[in-house]
Amino acid sequence: MMSDSGQPPDAGKLAPQWARVRARLRSEVGESEYRSWLRQMVLQGIEGDMAVIALPSRFRRDWVRDHYGDRLRTMTQAEWPALKRVEFRVAVDATEVEAPEPALAESLAPARANGRAAAAPNHAPDGDWMAPLDPRHSFDSFVVGKPNEFAHACARRVAEKPATPGFNPLFLYGGVGLGKTHLMHSVAWEIRRCHPGKTVAYMSAEKFMYRFIGALRGGNTLEFKDQLRSVDVLMIDDLQFLIGKDNTQEEFFHTFNALVEAGKQIVVSADKSPNDLSGIEDRLRTRLGGGIVADLHATTYELRLSILQAKVAAAGVVVQDKVLELLAHKIASNIRDLEGALNRIVAHAKIFNRPMTLDTVTEVLSDLLRTHEKRVSIEDIQRRVAEHYAIRMTDMFSARRARNVARPRQVAMYLAKQLTSRSLPEIGRRFGNRDHTTVMHAVSRITELMADDRILAEDVSLLKKMLET
Ligand code: ADP
Ligand code: MG
Repeated sequence: MMSDSGQPPDAGKLAPQWARVRARLRSEVGESEYRSWLRQMVLQGIEGDMAVIALPSRFRRDWVRDHYGDRLRTMTQAEWPALKRVEFRVAVDATEVEAPEPALAESLAPARANGRAAAAPNHAPDGDWMAPLDPRHSFDSFVVGKPNEFAHACARRVAEKPATPGFNPLFLYGGVGLGKTHLMHSVAWEIRRCHPGKTVAYMSAEKFMYRFIGALRGGNTLEFKDQLRSVDVLMIDDLQFLIGKDNTQEEFFHTFNALVEAGKQIVVSADKSPNDLSGIEDRLRTRLGGGIVADLHATTYELRLSILQAKVAAAGVVVQDKVLELLAHKIASNIRDLEGALNRIVAHAKIFNRPMTLDTVTEVLSDLLRTHEKRVSIEDIQRRVAEHYAIRMTDMFSARRARNVARPRQVAMYLAKQLTSRSLPEIGRRFGNRDHTTVMHAVSRITELMADDRILAEDVSLLKKMLET
């Protein structure tokens, strides 16, 4: 038996720490992610230097281990410093656990204006064919930039006119955390809004599989097929999870064909393009690639910055530009991580009621921004500084003395002195053969100016952080 806090009774004394870990993870990953993957996670206990976390299925266990294993280890270590490892197990009796959640830092994104609670499952009109759609994942909140503009345009197009030839199926693919699910939900919301008569079935491939297996066991596969084939739009998220599940894949293929033939829209997401998905049959591959295939590319600095700006604006919080710039520079893996980092600093600012300066952020996110003792080259410094002040790299070596280039050059010299072990004459040589006294002058001038000029001081500190990490 489980207690209602999601832990076996003997783990009771670990409860407060575990509740904190869950709350922290929840505010980092966001509500929908948390509900889909982490809510059923149970701390079974601590065995020696190992925390044992259980999940109700092998699938979930693998997912949580692969996606959150590292974070969970860091977070549990923060609570129990003696821990070295986390082990993930499958526990059958954890299946139905629904732990009441500890209070969490408010999620950043506001619920939609229509007042639907942010995480409330959404039933009707599609009944249980519809997995809950996250109200925060709409076109309104989707920030468009170079890496996702094509996928976004295709998604919009499909939402406005489902089943347009040439756009069916819509196959969205890209790495983890780049916005596939967000776009899928946006399409589903938009179809509901513009075409209220159409039935939309959105579900993860995992859910599709469970339902199909359930139907097989219950002997009502016919009903399952009929229901599926009666929808106007079928959306399957994370299709890669169907691969290798032969029966389910076969069923999906038949449903897919039946729907396309009946002029219904299919939208699929996966982590790879149809051509690169291994282990699927050629006829399915051909079918999947037969409409429009759109790729969500890795993010760029510009997109990351716009997303951060949009999120803080939507949340109505104030975070300095410099802080956002630092995050956009450093957290380049994917948008989910970026959101997680932002959630964390906002939660932190609220709890401790202190402003988010570059220093506090660096501290709060130290595990994410992990400062590798990186060797910085003078060239790196020159390039970064030139970029920052929007001057040309050649101005670092030129004889021009106009303030708008001379000051950045001095900043670069100052940083070269601070961040490298080069001597003054050596630095001078690398800045267009200048004398070591010029470098010395630059260092003392910048030091002096920074004392009064807050903007300059912040610029220098930002540049330093970016170069160092
Ligand atoms: P995927 O399904 O590709 O793994 P998600 O759609 O779950 O990624 O996106 C991860 C997180 O990043 C979500 O919280 C999502 O809202 C957010 N996100 C992704 N792309 C964008 C974007 N272009 N604009 C705003 N938020 C985004
Ligand atoms: Mg997804």
